[in-house]
Amino acid sequence: MYEDILVPTDGSAGASAALDEAIDLADAFDATVHSLYVVDVAAVGPDTGAVDLAESFERMGEEATEAAATRARDAGVDATRSVATGSPHRAILDYADDHDIDLVVMGTHGRTGLERYLLGSVTEKVVRAAEIPVLTVRASEEEGEE
Ligand code: ATP
Ligand code: MN
Repeated sequence: MYEDILVPTDGSAGASAALDEAIDLADAFDATVHSLYVVDVAAVGPDTGAVDLAESFERMGEEATEAAATRARDAGVDATRSVATGSPHRAILDYADDHDIDLVVMGTHGRTGLERYLLGSVTEKVVRAAEIPVLTVRASEEEGEE
């Protein structure tokens, strides 16, 4: 039923809770977990040529997706990882199209938002626009407030 499950990660507790759910599903369906981090061009800002912010976001993304893929593989699940650049929701939807993703599993919240909103803005945009199912996962209290 599910062969390719996308878990967008921003390194947050919400994304980590989503990964746990995705690993369980992938294990049950013998699916591959795809971990994706998007370097948010809006957060990087204009290229000043000074501190390379894009590069440090990119490095953070490499680490976050590497950690996610390792967690999946340690659970006996196939995993791939990648880092994209762009507008996060757009890049997530594009990745899903390009890789025949059957299901997106993502946190209700991420690193930057306020808990009082029902959903973070990236998740809300993906839920609104995706043509495939999107499963949203809330981090438990123990996983810490963002
Ligand atoms: P906001 O960003 O709207 O201020 P937030 O950070 O709480 O609020 P989102 O950014 O929507 O909420 O994060 C919710 C989920 O979206 C995360 O748990 C993660 O799964 C995914 N996500 C958010 N940002 C990225 C990103 N840059 N790359 C990949 N996935 C992301
Ligand atoms: Mn966010």
